[in-house]
Amino acid sequence: MFKLSKKIQSLPPYLFVEIDKAKRAARASGRDLIDLGIGDPDQPTPRHIIEKLYQAAQDPATHRYAMDQGMPVLRRAISGWYAKRFNVKLNPETEVLPLIGSKEGIAHFPLAFLNQGDYSLVPDPCYPPYKGGAILAGGKPYLMPLREANGFLPDLKKIPLSILKKAKLIYINYPNNPTSTIAEAGFYQEVINFAKKHKLIVVSDLAYSEITYDGYRPPSFLEFEGARDIAIEFHSLSKTYNMTGWRVGFACGNQNLVSALAKIKSNIDSGIFSAVQLAGVEALTGPQHCLQEICGIYQQRRDVLISGLKSLGWNVTAPKATFYVWVRIPAKYDSIKFSTLLLDKANIVVTPGVGFGRYGEGYIRMALTVPVERLKEAIQRISSL
Ligand SMILES: *Cc1c(COP(=O)(O)O)cnc(C)c1O
Repeated sequence: MFKLSKKIQSLPPYLFVEIDKAKRAARASGRDLIDLGIGDPDQPTPRHIIEKLYQAAQDPATHRYAMDQGMPVLRRAISGWYAKRFNVKLNPETEVLPLIGSKEGIAHFPLAFLNQGDYSLVPDPCYPPYKGGAILAGGKPYLMPLREANGFLPDLKKIPLSILKKAKLIYINYPNNPTSTIAEAGFYQEVINFAKKHKLIVVSDLAYSEITYDGYRPPSFLEFEGARDIAIEFHSLSKTYNMTGWRVGFACGNQNLVSALAKIKSNIDSGIFSAVQLAGVEALTGPQHCLQEICGIYQQRRDVLISGLKSLGWNVTAPKATFYVWVRIPAKYDSIKFSTLLLDKANIVVTPGVGFGRYGEGYIRMALTVPVERLKEAIQRISSL
């Protein structure tokens, strides 16, 4: 009866439907599932951040509409954090924009720059809003395959000139979800040269910069020479401080790009709950030892899962960042069949790679968001398949 818009109709299908259905049915029938499918920290938000929210929420001033561009104190905290962490100096008034979670900004950003038929160059597999955002803005995603043979980096030379002429945005996301790969400085430099040559805006998603192991410290894209002429970077408190439910993230970088997103947002939302903004300030400026604890927990889980999978003869490498392990599956399966097998026969939930795009086929993603004992149990279950 209601005819959906062309945009809605052309959004990519939700490929986890079958597995979600099977997962719900399994839960309902009381089966003991080990859920490695969820990209959401299982640990609580650090105590001092919760206390700050509690305290801030007592003040009636926080109950009113927030200042829609983000509180100055939060903008300053973000700018201070970037200076300390990356040695990147951002003007809090013009080069920083708080967001209701970075997904919100990532999905809205293309509205500011895509016209009908323009392209966003998006990695595939990828975090779904890169594609969805392009389509909702009336544009089209052009898929840059992330192939294992190329270190899960896009091969920029393979993008046809005919596409580049109509492309406005290019997305990069390292440390990467879902492949958990990192990028070297040379890649960032290549992206800057490429983007300048073809007049592209670079959208860098840095959601996992703090979830790292073995001493690895990823750079911000904005550290590289020339990046600030052409780039906007999205960041989030979600993964760093176990705050996915709070909805607080931010965009920063080139002031024209940041102000364009602010203009879009001023037509759509009325800001982040002020008490959450103040808790965000506490997260960024308060004690940081929670970070080592958070990464320590994932690192231990990573080591258990990787060594367990290796003991089963699986060919996996330990990621240096993110809380995902991207695993190649046996050639005789596709990723949905293999995920279904793990669910049906071992009560283990994983994410089929194809859910992140067609070039994710042949892989599954396992999340390190369950305790060590459950990971050991998962290995046990797989070994007796
Ligand atoms: C989790 C995640 C985000 C952050 O999302 P929020 O909306 O800030 O919670 C952004 N990008 C990627 C790739 C992610 O996995």
